[in-house]
Amino acid sequence: MENIKHIFFDLDNTLWDYRRNAKITLAKLYEEFQIKDTYGYSFDEFYPHYYESNEQLWADYRDGKVNKEELRKRRFPEAFENMGIPNAEFAMEYERRFVDEVTDTNYVVEGTEEILEYLKDNYRLHILSNGFEEVTHQKIQGCIIKDYMETITTAEEAGSPKPEAKAFMTALAKSDAKVEDSIYIGDDWIADMVGAHRLGMRAIFFNPLKENHMWVEEIPVINQLIELKKFL
Ligand SMILES: [Mg+2]
Repeated sequence: MENIKHIFFDLDNTLWDYRRNAKITLAKLYEEFQIKDTYGYSFDEFYPHYYESNEQLWADYRDGKVNKEELRKRRFPEAFENMGIPNAEFAMEYERRFVDEVTDTNYVVEGTEEILEYLKDNYRLHILSNGFEEVTHQKIQGCIIKDYMETITTAEEAGSPKPEAKAFMTALAKSDAKVEDSIYIGDDWIADMVGAHRLGMRAIFFNPLKENHMWVEEIPVINQLIELKKFL
């Protein structure tokens, strides 16, 4: 693709392996809170309930239906309730510990270092994440991503999550970048692709789980990060 100077990346599950890091932390806490011993449900029974509750609440956050406090107040109580433990009084402590400790594990998505190393000499690299300010910086500081990024912008800082234009405009302004010089790479069709496309910004969809999505002719789809070499 021509005339690109700036590459904006999504963070969670695009470069920072949220699914893997979260699962490790959740399993550790599950053991420590002795949930299997007390209630009889295994971690493998719990995890899909957590996954569903977390995904749904993040989609609601993206759509402006819930705020940060609500998301944090609801995801674990709802997961435990759906599994069969209503009114779990340990759920808020679980939430607090999870947010505190999830950034202790910092696996990055396969191919992250190779592709950032490849891109760094020809482009200026940035993060625009829907994550919360403090956690986002901890994630980046804890791994190699920090060595490549010129700016980091969060939805919390912008005051609006992707796909809102304000999130993208805040990141562009902070980076001294223009829409037409820039491309967005992310794994959420609505927040990342629809958001960038609406603004007239080029975009590449990263779809490692090969999930169903809409097709837009101008948006290439990749399943692995190293495929970016075909376009950049
Ligand atoms: Mg993501």
